Amino acid sequence: MFNSAKILTDQFDRVHKYLRISLTEKCNLRCTYCMPAGGIQLSPKSHLMSHEEVYQIAKIFVQNGVNKIRLTGGEPLVRKDFTQILAQLSHLNVTLALTTNALLVDQYIDDFKKYHLNKINVSLDSLKAGKFAQITRRNQFQKTYDNILLLLNNGFEVKINTVLMKGVNDDEILDFINLTKDLDINVRFIEFMPFDGNKWNQKQLVSQQEIINIATERFGNKLIKLSDGPNYIARHFKIEAYKGQFGIISSVSNPFCDVCDRIRLTADGKIKNCLFSNIETDLLAKFRAGEPLEPLIYQAIYHKKAVRAGMDNFDKLKDPNRHTNNRSMTAIGG
Ligand code: SAM
Ligand code: SF4
Repeated sequence: MFNSAKILTDQFDRVHKYLRISLTEKCNLRCTYCMPAGGIQLSPKSHLMSHEEVYQIAKIFVQNGVNKIRLTGGEPLVRKDFTQILAQLSHLNVTLALTTNALLVDQYIDDFKKYHLNKINVSLDSLKAGKFAQITRRNQFQKTYDNILLLLNNGFEVKINTVLMKGVNDDEILDFINLTKDLDINVRFIEFMPFDGNKWNQKQLVSQQEIINIATERFGNKLIKLSDGPNYIARHFKIEAYKGQFGIISSVSNPFCDVCDRIRLTADGKIKNCLFSNIETDLLAKFRAGEPLEPLIYQAIYHKKAVRAGMDNFDKLKDPNRHTNNRSMTAIGG
């Protein structure tokens, strides 16, 4: 039954006020955990939301209570009409945020300022140029790093997303924590998550406890646990007297589904109620047909599962059959 007053509330009374919109499936990097080397099969352009459709569909969510919108992808800044999208969304009364690999940040920094986009998450999986190239399959470490410093020097609120993989970059945990000594930055270690075709292997997982153990061994009682805000997805820590902080996002070993307030809209206009769900509701087709979207949004959110699209234990999460028909992260919008 459609309940217009509770359109963003699911059957477990979680209220979803945070909308993540993927603007494109394309990317200028090829991170091994996210994309195959040759890229993914892209949707035809006509199947993707135009900038006007992004705005009109986002507006419906905002009218029903969404108060934060994050633009993501693929790489959102490769979209040619990014500035137009940002300008339109700035008319909605919401906090705007961006997740980017930062490669094109220098081209957009004035637009970010003009349209009050201040919260920027940047993916960075290694502080070593060679390792960065190995993970992203592109030789672009210096550009990425310079653009992170550019954001910081211009007063942006910057978080670094680091996907940890054992035997690949787990030897850099302390280097990333040390980055928070002089930079007012929030490094978030993200557990490597399984998606269709990304060759996920449990052995590559670096768990929350392992990171805490490494930090405790190095910093002892200088490691301080910070309090976690409402709808937190990361557990936060800092090292005494360091400028920045770090966090651990453990969707695999320690999920935060009970406080999840996220809804995802893919670049082709489909709503996903969970990152791990392969069930999608096509809003764009209905929008183009002039039909109301609220009942569809309500249905999609109401039926969200309690934990990770029903994968409520580790055995289910490990089962590759449960990830088939879900998109790769770049097509979901991370
Ligand atoms: N291109 C932008 C970027 O890299 O920040 C935005 C899109 S990307 C898909 C969003 C986030 O998803 C990134 O922080 C990336 O590290 C993360 N991600 C992608 N695949 C992942 C996986 N298998 N496990 C954990 N995080 C993943
Ligand atoms: Fe591109 Fe981001 Fe995926 Fe890396 S994580 S391939 S930068 S979309």
